Amino acid sequence: MGALTLKNVTKAFGKTEVIKGVDLDVKDGEFCVFVGPSGCGKSTLLRMIAGLEDVTSGDVEIDGERINDLAPARREIAMVFQSYALYPHLTVRDNMGLALKQLGTPKAQIVEAADKAAAMLDLGPLMERRPSELSGGQRQRVAIGRAIVRTPKLFLFDEPLSNLDAALRVATRIEIARLHRDLGATMIYVTHDQVEAMTLADKIVVLRAGRVEQVGRPMDLYNDPDNTFVAGFIGSPQ
Ligand code: ADP
Ligand code: MG
Repeated sequence: MGALTLKNVTKAFGKTEVIKGVDLDVKDGEFCVFVGPSGCGKSTLLRMIAGLEDVTSGDVEIDGERINDLAPARREIAMVFQSYALYPHLTVRDNMGLALKQLGTPKAQIVEAADKAAAMLDLGPLMERRPSELSGGQRQRVAIGRAIVRTPKLFLFDEPLSNLDAALRVATRIEIARLHRDLGATMIYVTHDQVEAMTLADKIVVLRAGRVEQVGRPMDLYNDPDNTFVAGFIGSPQ
């Protein structure tokens, strides 16, 4: 299970409120895409769900259980960043196994989980390399592999393809869609790219200045946006 609920979640940095009361339900196994202009709060929302930022008020729930105060490592949530965020001094294998090691998982189990993820992502031949010896696309596959190894209930992707060239973006997008099908996990995915949003999403959340502007299935938003702001992200040409 991996259903996510946000209840009237806010976030203030100092006196500036950047998330202004977000309610959201993401069903178990759903692929939910966040879109919205730069600075509207997409990354901040993901970081609060992952536990990398405190929630100022409101509740974050997984399967009905409030997790506001749970440490990130205990959340069964994995996040993939635009910048990969790999450790340069560790091999691919150790980067992928690190989160399990920190949880005290036995070594044999870590190796098995890393090898399984590597097989899913064609990373087998790269396991002993360091990140500096990989291309951008390979680094992002390692970052995705590291997320899989934790067998999370919920995957968070923050513009994971932005640093890749166009051909790799398409290939990696297809890989993420396949992973979603194979793992059946809940995924939340931030993107600027309308094609990514339309092809990956079961549900699109359009954010504007710290609030949810509209939520809906891709074709419903595309055909029937509430306003020109939503149409600017997802709508058909006016
Ligand atoms: P997005 O990912 O949609 O581009 P962010 O979530 O990164 O937006 O940022 C939302 C708002 O919060 C922006 O105005 C940003 O400047 C602000 N913000 C983000 N992180 C911090 C921080 N650590 N301290 C102060 N302000 C921040
Ligand atoms: Mg961001």
